[in-house]
Amino acid sequence: MIYLDHAATTPVDPAVLQQMLPYFSENYGNASTIYSLGQSAKKAIHTARKQLADCLGCEINEIYFTAGGSESDNWALWGVARALKEKGRHIVTSRIEHHAILNACKALEKEGYEVTYLPVDANGIVSPEDVRRAIRQDTILVSVMAANNEIGTVQDIAAIGAICREKNVLFHTDAVQAFGKIPIQVDSMHIDLLSVSAHKLYGPKGVGFLYVRNLSPFGPLIFGGSQERNRRAGTENVPGIVGLGAAAATAVSSMEQVCAHEEKLREHLKDRILSEIPDALVNGWEAVRDPETGAYRSLPGTLDVSFPGIEAQSALIMLDMEGICCSGGSACTTGALESSHVLLSIGRSDIEAKGSLRFTIGKDNTLEEMDRTADALVRIVERLRSIRL
Ligand SMILES: *Cc1c(COP(=O)(O)O)cnc(C)c1O
Repeated sequence: MIYLDHAATTPVDPAVLQQMLPYFSENYGNASTIYSLGQSAKKAIHTARKQLADCLGCEINEIYFTAGGSESDNWALWGVARALKEKGRHIVTSRIEHHAILNACKALEKEGYEVTYLPVDANGIVSPEDVRRAIRQDTILVSVMAANNEIGTVQDIAAIGAICREKNVLFHTDAVQAFGKIPIQVDSMHIDLLSVSAHKLYGPKGVGFLYVRNLSPFGPLIFGGSQERNRRAGTENVPGIVGLGAAAATAVSSMEQVCAHEEKLREHLKDRILSEIPDALVNGWEAVRDPETGAYRSLPGTLDVSFPGIEAQSALIMLDMEGICCSGGSACTTGALESSHVLLSIGRSDIEAKGSLRFTIGKDNTLEEMDRTADALVRIVERLRSIRL
């Protein structure tokens, strides 16, 4: 099998799993108890919090554990919206956010909040100056993702953060795809809230965290016990939290190496597709880095390509029969025949969007797998295009 869907989820790293295992059946204590079994769980949670704080350059009491990226995104929006509803009810975001942001914004609109959805350019970039112009007297939050899950475009988070700071508006970023892949520091980038999910970085599913800068006006999510500084009650998911901490520490320490490997594979797959398949179009930046500064413009392992004239769904089935896993548009819309909101936002036509495939490369993929994928694509795209004639 060739797995090229790392933006949908990743396997748990065996070393991460080893660290999690004792917390299921040996060190099973409740972290809120005072005997040593409970204290060992409490210590493990503290270690994970410290690992995450070190990754972001923040304080340990600014990390709040959640059940994943969707919860972190929802909590960021609702937590700020509730806390600041007397100050204002206007939120600024972009048209290419994950549905965890877009659908939470829709729910907020039903509750009387107003949301501005900023457009993006042909590469999927949100203009920081558009953010500045959108901020009003009653704006309480700006939420712009650090890197896009479909096309991999990396935003100028530091510039957007600086504008929010200058305007005294809180800034949230969905860093579920970016964290552990490109450098993120909350202070230099002026980030007030940030979402991360473990299963996108070789950790377990169902656990993540929300970073919230101290003293930010921010409401609780779940009422009950005093866990997570009285803001998210419930007995902690200790094995999950241990896995998240370990996965994040590994991702950040091996970032440069993994990025270089993924970029090399992406470029090889891209070059073969563009030279061997007529009319193929890369969605988002064609090159991973800015040729002048060398900075990341795109996630190194993400390659989204439109093959006009094919139906992505058919191609996915044929690729699966050859043991190749990838996505058409984003995983959340698979099954629905709607075109990706991201691809339409960067100006792709309906036909281009419906014929798009997303390949997201991981640390364990090989160059040989890229060749096998390119070989299969050449055949499959030709076959599907000939059937449609
Ligand atoms: C996967 C993803 C999410 C949702 O994370 P879950 O942990 O699956 O809930 C949110 N935002 C982005 C950008 C993602 O890629």
